[in-house]
Amino acid sequence: MSFSTPRFRRVLLKVSGEALMGNRQYGLDVDMVERVAGEIRSVQSMGVQVCLVIGGGNIFRGISGAATGMERATADYMGMLATVMNALAMQSALERIGVATRVQSAIPMSSICEPYIRRRAVRHMEKGRVVIFAAGTGNPFFTTDTAAALRAVEMGCDALLKGTQVDGVYTADPKKDPRAERYDSLGYLEVLSRDLKVMDASAITLARDNNIPIVVFNLHHAGGFAEVMLGRGLFTIITNEA
Ligand code: UDP
Repeated sequence: MSFSTPRFRRVLLKVSGEALMGNRQYGLDVDMVERVAGEIRSVQSMGVQVCLVIGGGNIFRGISGAATGMERATADYMGMLATVMNALAMQSALERIGVATRVQSAIPMSSICEPYIRRRAVRHMEKGRVVIFAAGTGNPFFTTDTAAALRAVEMGCDALLKGTQVDGVYTADPKKDPRAERYDSLGYLEVLSRDLKVMDASAITLARDNNIPIVVFNLHHAGGFAEVMLGRGLFTIITNEA
């Protein structure tokens, strides 16, 4: 169904660290960060309140650190610090194109950004600022997917958007299996029972318990984020109803 005005009033966009890597093997691709910033600006200029959770997998993942013998919790803290770097890069790209932003970190870093304060974050959004949530949940053994679902619930978002490299959820990896088919809609339980790789199970469960739709779309498709807001283009929506 297509709409003439945005279907959501407030959304949280989860951007993985990998999405910011572009075609590189590691770190940030400046062009990619700028492109994503442009996508966010176009949705914000439609009057939608936008907040972001940025991953850190392009720099450091706790699980890889643990595999080298490092204590898992310590490695996870390093992963969370990586998300702060990405958040600052995104803040800089957004502000360069005139979008007011605030970064709030779940691990306080008062010289760099604000600490996470829920009511303050809501107020920023009401004032039209894009709030970027950094450092995940602030707890080891979690992921930024779970942080995204948690913040979406806390902020009272109407939807959790997951920008990926493909235009929705498929029966199999479309890059490996040419017969893979895309779902238009899915139920949370189907995602869990079929073990579809959308977000981790705790993120899906949190979204399900709080009835927040998850919309999976292609962040690499120019104008894709704005299209999804209008119910156009290709995406998969995950709700209780499917
Ligand atoms: N992380 C964590 N707790 C959180 C969020 C993230 O410990 O609440 C750590 C974890 O080590 C993870 C890393 O931060 O591997 C980077 O986040 P993630 O892998 O979710 O990033 P993405 O895959 O989205 O780029």
